[in-house]
Amino acid sequence: MIQNKKVINETVGLKNSFIKLVIKREDLIHPFISGNKYRKLKYNILKAKELKKATLLTFGGAYSNHIAATAYAGRSSGFKTIGVIRGDELNRKIESNPTLKFAKSCGMEFKFVSREEYRLKSKNNFIENLTIEFGEFYLIPEGGTNDLAVKGCEEILNDEDSDFDFICCCVGTGGTISGLINASKPHQKILGFPALKGDFIQEDIRKFARKNNWDIITDYHFGGYGKIKPELITFINDFNRRYHIPLDPVYTGKMMYGIFDLIEKQFFPDGSKILAIHTGGLQGIEGMNIRLKQKGWPQIE
Ligand SMILES: *Cc1c(COP(=O)(O)O)cnc(C)c1O
Repeated sequence: MIQNKKVINETVGLKNSFIKLVIKREDLIHPFISGNKYRKLKYNILKAKELKKATLLTFGGAYSNHIAATAYAGRSSGFKTIGVIRGDELNRKIESNPTLKFAKSCGMEFKFVSREEYRLKSKNNFIENLTIEFGEFYLIPEGGTNDLAVKGCEEILNDEDSDFDFICCCVGTGGTISGLINASKPHQKILGFPALKGDFIQEDIRKFARKNNWDIITDYHFGGYGKIKPELITFINDFNRRYHIPLDPVYTGKMMYGIFDLIEKQFFPDGSKILAIHTGGLQGIEGMNIRLKQKGWPQIE
């Protein structure tokens, strides 16, 4: 596995600031199962094998990195995969949605449900009905987060990373940051940048995290999950031109925007060493660009 780290400190263009910023390129660990989704699936797939399950079933939205990753990982490990997809109107849009089209090409079978129904997905009778419909399966929760996923995410950090003062990552369901927290050293602070609005995430993280050396920075969700603003697109494009590192618009772009803004606002003490985790998600760019084009907005290059 590649553990490519790229130092970008000297060129971030921040005057009077003595900050070292390093990006851990988890987006490069696999061409299709990007970043944290690879980490989260690893032990779940081993468990499903051990339990002799033939099918993986999971949940996600129209552009879900987790759906794409599960479809690909499932097929390459010999599983049938089922994706329960939020939004019953998507049934007719598989071919025009790059994420669903990719998952389908990996053999994933879909069940499209309304947004109301989707909210009930953790309830017992919802799962029972899925078992009646599809037979036995290994269930992976939305976003892939469970104990085994957190265990996988603990492997993102290694001994070489103990030199950093801050470790930054994007937050969706909180599995990734929980793994980082568990693997961190006491002198390190883990900062999570949620990609969505809401205060529930702290509680979710506390379910999995065994330490208290973390904080959530809620100022950079850009209006909510999957929401975007022209200044974010500009930032992502400038960043890629400058450092030759692509960022995705749903997670890593927002985090990096936030890190740069915080550096500029002198949030980090002089001399701080920051490690930012690039959790991947680049498959989502194509779908986002289709939406941006429809709006007549600039696209991600
Ligand atoms: C899913 C995802 C996240 C969020 O991870 P959680 O473990 O759900 O918090 C962050 N970044 C990218 C690129 C993702 O695809």
